[in-house]
Amino acid sequence: MTTNQQTRMCVGCHKKMTSEQLKRFIVTSEGITFDTSKKQPGRGSYICSDQCLDKFKNKKHRKKGEK
Ligand SMILES: [Zn+2]
Repeated sequence: MTTNQQTRMCVGCHKKMTSEQLKRFIVTSEGITFDTSKKQPGRGSYICSDQCLDKFKNKKHRKKGEK
């Protein structure tokens, strides 16, 4: 029996889940790339749903002093 599951935090809702429940993506200068192989270099982030991804994107796009 193996209960060796790593938990990751969703950057959208900040809930902790197993890596199986989350999608890994990497933020590059060109945007967001989904790391389906889980082997891409770079700082990976985890997201549980498209809604959370939108939330994360909106947060990123809000710039200081813009309006
Ligand atoms: Zn989430």
